[in-house]
Amino acid sequence: MSGQNSGSAAPQSATERESAAVVAFWHNLGLPGLVDIHTHFMPANVLAKVWAYFDQGNAHTDHPWPIVYRQPEDERVALLRAFGVRRFSALAYPHKPGMAAWLNGWETGFAARTPDALHSATFYPEPGADAYVAEAITAGARLFKAHLQVGAYDPRDELLGPVWGLLAEARVPVVVHCGSGPMPGRFTGPGPMSEVLARHPRLIAIIAHLGAPEYGDFLGLTEQYSGVYLDTTMAFTDFLERIAPFPVGLRPRLADAGGRILLGTDFPNIPYSYVHQLQALARLDLGEPWLRAVCHDNAVALLGL
Ligand SMILES: [Zn+2]
Repeated sequence: MSGQNSGSAAPQSATERESAAVVAFWHNLGLPGLVDIHTHFMPANVLAKVWAYFDQGNAHTDHPWPIVYRQPEDERVALLRAFGVRRFSALAYPHKPGMAAWLNGWETGFAARTPDALHSATFYPEPGADAYVAEAITAGARLFKAHLQVGAYDPRDELLGPVWGLLAEARVPVVVHCGSGPMPGRFTGPGPMSEVLARHPRLIAIIAHLGAPEYGDFLGLTEQYSGVYLDTTMAFTDFLERIAPFPVGLRPRLADAGGRILLGTDFPNIPYSYVHQLQALARLDLGEPWLRAVCHDNAVALLGL
């Protein structure tokens, strides 16, 4: 015996240990893996700017945000696969006009070389948005992203009317960052997006971060509209609980909304390890059927995976 490859006695790297913990989580639930509806992949220069934004403390001035997963793109994809994330999104979003169509072109290429990524796309209130959104849907996009805080736009903007209409008609879901956490924006909060839903009640909208910190209002939208979902991104983690704690009194509604909650993590832009998001869901104590639905089955049903 060489002693070098002696099986379980071999020391594991931190990555191997974390992968084993994530795999044990879904395996113990009897799932075939995870579906993560809220991960970010974007052109390297854009991602570098996003990381610089977090490094400079702009995301939330009172709380340092040291991003854990700064590997090159191929290593980040390999890591999600090692975690057993069967499908994951590739959300990108513009902060200014003239950027969304270019991001969508990049996303089409990423989806083509990454078959387990959900082909993702985005938009901005600008002339021609309806045309490039229609083009992205034709090209196979099955998930969009709208970031009202970073984009600093009003979702009721008349240039977006046809965009919401197209998405509603095509039944293509859109992940919308419209809660006021971790930083509020001019058009965040439940008001503006509620008006969009009143005009487009068939829209499939996945509210990012469980709508933090306006959890109750956004849970209310899932009760009002059959197409409103919430993603778990950062919710219930030690990090977000310090900034925007989830009220314990809302847990029964969280249990009732179990069919409309989707696992999301914000990988790779998170200041803690991936497995912590899963542990944060488990410690809610809402039961294994709730966890199975949230971590896999709801997304499979919604996206027809
Ligand atoms: Zn995100």
